[in-house]
This record gives sequence, structure tokens and C-alpha cells, in this order.
Amino acid sequence: MSEIEEIKSRLDIVEVIREYMPVKPAGASFQALCPFHNEKTPSFTISPDKQVWHCFGCSRGGDIFSFVMEKDNLSFVEALRLLAKKAGVVLKGQDSHDYSQRNRLLDIMELAAKYYSHIFWTETGLAFRDYLSSRGLSEDTMKSWQIGCSQNSWDSLYNFLKTRPKEGKKFTDDEIFLAGLTVKKSPDKGGRGYYDRFRDRIIFPISDLSGNPIAFTARVNPDKEQTEKMGKYINSPQTKVYDKGRVLFGLDKAKAAIRTEDLAIVVEGQMDVITCHQHGFKNVVASSGTALTTEQVALIKRFTQNIALLFDMDKAGQLAADRGIREALAQEMNIKIIILASGKDPAEALNRDSDEFRRAVEAAKPMMEYYFEKVTAGLDLEQMENKRSVSEKMFGMIQLIGSKTEQGYWLKKMSEALSFFEPDTREQFSKWQVKNGVLPEGGQRAVKSSVPEPSLAISREDRLGERLIAILVRFPEFINYATGSFEPEELSNSLISEFYRKLIIYYNKAASLDYEDFRFYLQQEGIERQLLDKLVLLGERDFYSFSQEEAKKELVNVITDLKLAYKHNKMKRIQQAIIKAEKAGQTDRLSELMEDLKNLTAS
Ligand SMILES: [Zn+2]
Repeated sequence: MSEIEEIKSRLDIVEVIREYMPVKPAGASFQALCPFHNEKTPSFTISPDKQVWHCFGCSRGGDIFSFVMEKDNLSFVEALRLLAKKAGVVLKGQDSHDYSQRNRLLDIMELAAKYYSHIFWTETGLAFRDYLSSRGLSEDTMKSWQIGCSQNSWDSLYNFLKTRPKEGKKFTDDEIFLAGLTVKKSPDKGGRGYYDRFRDRIIFPISDLSGNPIAFTARVNPDKEQTEKMGKYINSPQTKVYDKGRVLFGLDKAKAAIRTEDLAIVVEGQMDVITCHQHGFKNVVASSGTALTTEQVALIKRFTQNIALLFDMDKAGQLAADRGIREALAQEMNIKIIILASGKDPAEALNRDSDEFRRAVEAAKPMMEYYFEKVTAGLDLEQMENKRSVSEKMFGMIQLIGSKTEQGYWLKKMSEALSFFEPDTREQFSKWQVKNGVLPEGGQRAVKSSVPEPSLAISREDRLGERLIAILVRFPEFINYATGSFEPEELSNSLISEFYRKLIIYYNKAASLDYEDFRFYLQQEGIERQLLDKLVLLGERDFYSFSQEEAKKELVNVITDLKLAYKHNKMKRIQQAIIKAEKAGQTDRLSELMEDLKNLTAS
């Protein structure tokens, strides 16, 4: 078995895709909202049986590899590496040409994480371990998060990496630098070469979704907090494998819990995440910095629609300015705010009383409610001036909500709180929208998305043709019947017609329909496999619960409709030819055509 086949056999496509987005069973297949185009009803379909996927909306499709390549924007080799790791398949014989730079950098980061962790558990790390214990972390926790430390040295990591070749190929200065682990010495000070970026610090690895270390956060040695000039925390720079805005700290460990709890709690710092996990709150991740990015929200959305923010937010205005929040609201995600007793950060709160923390999580407030409280705090709402300024702010926030129903809900709540007549509030809101350019004067809501809903304008006839084949692939026992009553030539779409012809030829030879074998046959015949995947999934989607009898009935109907369409098209063609012949005065041709038309109508 090839490595690719082995990976495919060990992984379930449904489970792999489920890591990216929610999928729901639908008959024999699974469905989801397509991640590659905008849609409100799911047309993205997965067949666990055939291990393929297809979107009936945008016509993309393929296998497990094509999915992660497309979704994560990876080359085939990168996708191979990712899936091999997931499947527990060790890749060998990677030729160095294919082994992309990205993978070399991942190797360096993995090695560096091991090195830091090794040092941490030696004598050198003792003071750091004591410090983390005093902050409430257990040894098990330190190990499972692979916490490490760097030596108080300018080149110990550099020297270590230089002596550990991978795949027989030594890491170059350039590669180690590109991984963000070293800094170039300043040439104007006469320096040459590189020095270690992280020195004498506690090291927290930041991992990608699959658990590969891709960056580090380094905390200053607690003994030097007062004197250190570099800052309490320093981070890996942006690299080929690390894009700060596209990573959530802890998500590799939290993703399963986020799915089962159907909630992602977002905190600010790494220590907060680690402490939460140690106390059993495993659905916690950290943004790097206070604001969520659009990409981070998209990451969370793979696992849940619900976000609870545990930020130290004094300024409510920050919420509206936050791009990630705007995006989450637009995508109809539910955002709640967790409020801790003042002055406490999550780690501190947990170490004092984890029950109190749990209660705070349970009492999380919907963001709009929180926001309303913030913008009205200390205001006399009897005064018209205040009512007006609060309305302005609330409109700005309500506008961001993607769901009209929810917009309506908050307009109603707002009217109650401000003692406004609800229809007036709605009217004010519409005016506000026009004024702020959200609504054209008297018109519909402006279309925001740049990715249009693909047109589903495939002709009725083509749809019937696809249905015909979908039934036959699902119920091959009817292929003989179909062959006897319907010719490939009667299909106007050449692609579907050709597919139908090949299906008949294959079935006549093989006397059965083995999916893999048929797929291989089509490939040899130069027919897009994607069409097969699509039609197979169509069959599984639409005819899953059909009995043989029902399938036969449907088949007869489809064939009848197709024959009618064929006849109709033919008639139209003859009528056009008649008009032409009349104009040209070709009497022989005319009578021939009239005869054809008569026969056709009679049949
Ligand atoms: Zn799609």
C-alpha cells in the first residue's frame, strides 16, 4: 500500500472535515455549509462510504487531500505531511527537493521545543519550575504544555540545532533564522553571524491545530523582571509557519472540548489558558493580544458558533471597533461576555476559587446586553440627550448583527429600556442606516459579500440528466433497464451524455458497479472523476431512503421527462429549420421537414 493509500485508509474523511466545520448526518452522507462559497443552506456533501466530498453549490470536490489543500492553502506535500501525522503514518523517502522549506522550519521548531523542554527539566530550569509552581501550575501541566526554558547564553540553541541534521541535511544559518529563533548581529557594530533570540526565559510553545510547535512566547526570568529591558514577554516574529493573527493559543488542545461544550472561551494570556485547562476548563484558548482577528473567529467557527470573551475590558467602545467581533456578529455567531470580580485575572480567580470561576462562566452575558449596560452606565435615561446618544451607539452595534431576527430582538429590548415606541425605534434605525450608508435610500440592504452565491442556473434538463445517472449509480441493477429505454444521444449535455455512455459500457463488461474500479476506469477514459463524485453524492443525498420500487418509479419518471425534453428540443430545431427553408424558398427541404415534424408529433 502506498503512503497515500495508507493515510486514506486510516483517516475518516468525515472526522477530518469535522475538525474544520460542523457537519451533520443526512441519510447515508453528511452535509455542511460550504467553506468555499457563501451559502445559507448546506450543499456541501460528504460520503463516508466513498471517502469523497462535493459541493453542489460551487462544484468543488475531491478527496481528503484536496480538501485540506484547498482549505489550508497547502501544497500537496504539506497536506501529505499534515494528514500523515494525523493518521500516525511515518513518511519515509521524502526526497529533499519536495521536502519544502515550510516543513524544514516545522522540523526546526519541533527540535527547538524539545531542546527548551529538556533544559527546563535540568538543574538550569529549577528556579523556573519553582516559579510556575508558585503560580499554581502542576508538574503534569508543565509537561503536557511542553513548557521549557532557554539558557542564559547567546548561542546554546543555535549550537544545538547546528549539530542535529534532519534527513541527513544540516540546518543552515538561514533556516534557523527564518524559523525566528536567531537574530542577525548588527553589522554596523561590527557584528557577524547570529545569536539566540530567547535567552534566560521561560518558553511557552505555540502550536498549530495539529499540535506542531510553530512559535514561542518567552517570559522573562522572574528574578530579572525589574532589570530586564527587553520586555516581560517576547514572541517569535512572523515566519513562514507562524502568522500571529491566524493562531489561537491552546486551540490544538481545546478543540475537542470546544466542540463537546459547544462554546469557546477566549482569554488574553497563555498562563490563563494553561491554568484554565488545569482546572478542567478545557475549552479555553487565548488570542495573542486583546482584539480577535477575523481569521481567529473563522478558526473558532470550525468548532462552535458560541464565543465567550473573558477580557479585561474597561472600554466598551473597544468591542465595536474589534474587527473579529464585527465579523463574528456578521456571521451570526453568539458572543457572550464573562465578567470576573474586579481586579482578578482568570488564573488568579481560578487559583483562589474555581467554583466562583465556573459561576462566572455560567452567568456570561450576551454581548449586546453587556454593551447596553456599558453605554448606559451612570446616565440618566430620562433625558432626551442621553437617549439619543445611547441610540446612536446601540444602532452601530445592532447594525453589525447578521441575523434580521436578532436585530429585531435588540431593537425591541432597546425600545423598552429607553421607553421608546418600538415602531419609532425601527424607523429611526432605518434612517440611521441610510445616513450611515448601510442602506441605499429606500432600498434593500446592500450586498456585503464579495463572494457571490454561485448561480444554480443549470438547466432543468441537465438536472434531470444528472438525476438519471445518480439513480443508476445508486441502483446499478436498473442500468440494463435504462439502456433499453433511453439512449445516450437523447441527452443534450455532452458531458452527461458521455458519462452515461461510459457507465453503460463499463456495466456491460463488469456486470456490476464497483465504485473504485469504475472511478479508475473513468480516469483512464479521460473523464473527470469529480463528476462521478458529484453524481454519487447526489444519489446518496436524494435517493438514500428509496426502496428499489421507489427508485424504479423515479427512474421511469426521469426518463419520461428527459424524453419529453429531447422531443421538445428536436421540435424546436425542426421549426427553426422550417422557417429558414420557407425564407429560402427550398420547397423540397420544406416538405421533408414537415414530414419529420408530423412523425415527431405522432410518436
Ligand atoms: Zn461550495
